[in-house]
Amino acid sequence: WVAASLSRQHLPSARLSGDCSAPGSPHFDVVVVGGGHAGTEAAAAAARCGSQTLLLTHRVDTIGQMSCNPSFGGIGKGHLMREIDALDGLCSRICDQSGVHYKVLNRRKGPAVWGLRAQIDRKLYKQNMQKEILNTPLLTVQEGAVEDLILTQPEPGHPGRCRVSGVVLDCWGLNQVLHAKHKFYPGRGFTSVVPPPASQAEGPEFDGRYQKKKKKFYLCAVLPNPMDGSAVHAESVILTTGTFLRGTVVIGLETHPAGRLGDQPSIGLAQTLEKLGFVVGRLKTGTPPRIAKESIDFSILNKQTPDDPSVPFSFVNETVWIKPEDQLPCHLTHTNSAVDAIILENLHLNSHVKETASGPRYCPSIESKVLRFPNRVHQVWLEPEGMDSDLIYPQGLSVTLPAELQQKMILCIRGLEKAKMVQPGYGVQYDYLDPRQIEPSLETHLVQRLFFAGQINGTTGYEEAAAQGVIAGVNASLRVSRKPPFIVSRTEGYIGVMIDDLTTQGTSEPYRMFTSRAEFRLSLRPDNADSRLTFRGYEEAGCVSQQRYNRAAWMKSSLEEGISVLKSIEFSSSKWKKLIPQVSISTSRSLPVRALDVLKYEEVDMELLAKAVPDPLKKYTECRELAERLKIEASYESVLLCQQQEIQEVQRDEALQLPEDLDYLSVRDVSLSHEVREKLHFSRPRTIGAASRIPGVTPAAIINLLKFVKTTQ
Ligand code: FAD
Repeated sequence: WVAASLSRQHLPSARLSGDCSAPGSPHFDVVVVGGGHAGTEAAAAAARCGSQTLLLTHRVDTIGQMSCNPSFGGIGKGHLMREIDALDGLCSRICDQSGVHYKVLNRRKGPAVWGLRAQIDRKLYKQNMQKEILNTPLLTVQEGAVEDLILTQPEPGHPGRCRVSGVVLDCWGLNQVLHAKHKFYPGRGFTSVVPPPASQAEGPEFDGRYQKKKKKFYLCAVLPNPMDGSAVHAESVILTTGTFLRGTVVIGLETHPAGRLGDQPSIGLAQTLEKLGFVVGRLKTGTPPRIAKESIDFSILNKQTPDDPSVPFSFVNETVWIKPEDQLPCHLTHTNSAVDAIILENLHLNSHVKETASGPRYCPSIESKVLRFPNRVHQVWLEPEGMDSDLIYPQGLSVTLPAELQQKMILCIRGLEKAKMVQPGYGVQYDYLDPRQIEPSLETHLVQRLFFAGQINGTTGYEEAAAQGVIAGVNASLRVSRKPPFIVSRTEGYIGVMIDDLTTQGTSEPYRMFTSRAEFRLSLRPDNADSRLTFRGYEEAGCVSQQRYNRAAWMKSSLEEGISVLKSIEFSSSKWKKLIPQVSISTSRSLPVRALDVLKYEEVDMELLAKAVPDPLKKYTECRELAERLKIEASYESVLLCQQQEIQEVQRDEALQLPEDLDYLSVRDVSLSHEVREKLHFSRPRTIGAASRIPGVTPAAIINLLKFVKTTQ
């Protein structure tokens, strides 16, 4: 099969996928590679859209694994969670079933920038995600390592672009070693494993996979995967390989090939992509050590309690699975000069810090914080890893010092003077693909029907990965049924902002979402993600269930009706003062004041207003979410009218489509500099709007492109 796989032999080639299609080899509409946050969403979305889907991942027991922080959401990320949910994605609903501490960040600011966030029970999240994925209709899950892609000749009308038609699995799969628990042994890397269960160590399956050296078992071989070396054919393929492409785990001066602690890297696939001509970069990230809960003195630390009531992530949930009083607290402590000294004195023992690959700017390691901001104190949040977990995650203490020095550093921190490190922090370096090589649908420019989603595109974070997963899953499925792509624009969602940023500007450091990246923040609020995306998801993509659609439609009509009722209730300001004496309603003229305007006052909510005017307002307080949304709509009414004009201007630019097959390098009818031609050729923007956001594409070039588009249309 290796010989028949075209990507091994440098394209173009006339060899077809039929060469490696053994009789009876499986065929799916969509194959998703990787069962992380992007992969699970992509697979579920493609299946929801009606495609027969296969999720291929190294290990079923790591589906839904949170590689780093035990939390979801936050500022900007909470918006993505709501948008994923509006498209019927999984992670928001699963977080409502698995959280241990729910808190909305930025509460003091307006609702447009509130950050829905929760600490999540890792074990529960994984269990709930696996249950969901393994029970999704039309979705098959199979363990295996994808090593290669099967490619076929270009589709008619797309000369030069080959097409993916399947994947090839590694002949040494991993599914036979699921019972092996990888453990870290200081000084010996990550390859050690605890002994296999006695029954297997002696049975026919054992097969010499473990070697016993100095009383420890080492993994030395794995049994062949039942799908070994076989081809799986597909109409569309989505790669969501996270940090696994040529992944290297680092701790101190020790490095070890791994996608993350205890998981093999993906080497063959990385080579395939490079050979195909994809531009590859290198990034790094890291994770903190884990600390034994019972060894921490929480009594001397600041405690953070969860919100009461908890705000769910999902539109379909009115509440979360756990009451606020049963949730777990977080605690705050800080670094100090002793921590700085350990880091600065041992830089020579810390190879990750010296690496030139960029790390996450907004989630930096403690070493980079100490180097960038010397003599400062840094926050360390002690976050629970789960209801019955003995571990605490020290958020803000991501570190790659040798393990002994990490333990020493921890002991210098207030509250952690007797703390026991259970697992050291580590770094990971990995390949990512320049995201300017993908379309807004997440299909690659170079290979038709091949999609990338998640960390492979240079992003960081579960939410960013999950959001891309939904879009890739939907589009891979639409591609199979030859329907137009489902694209979320910058004016419709944070998902659109992220994908537009990535595909037009690329990224040289791990990209994460923030509210400041969106120009239309007042419209793109967490509360209204359903009205922005659910209807489109239902009508254009088919990824939204009837039940969710009905709920969104009910909410939309209730909001419209509520707003028009609020506009229709008018009294003089003196009457309002009598009805709601605690609020001083000011008006410059003796004009009547609408109930909608009264609702804009900070102290007024629907409850108060409905007490003053029970008929007809009482019914709008029966659903808490509806009452809150009416208040938000009222508060933003006037500013939204202004923003609407700006949105329409952007939408006009977005409507001007550039020809898909335009050869920017050779086209003569448009005057462009060589530099601009190269930039357009690389990013292949879909619209004039997207072209204007590419750094280095000048306003003059945009005018020339505009003229060209108008003459050719
Ligand atoms: P992943 O969740 O990594 O999933 C990739 C999946 O693909 C895995 O299941 C893997 O087994 C599978 N896979 C890979 N190659 C193959 C193959 N060839 N065949 C079959 N299956 C394959 N994010 C933050 O926001 N902040 C942080 O501080 C942070 N620190 C991190 C530290 C570490 C050490 C790591 C590993 C990650 C960190 N992250 C952090 C990133 C966060 O975990 C990711 O952004 C997120 O998990 C990406 O999701 P994904 O689906 O793209 O990839």
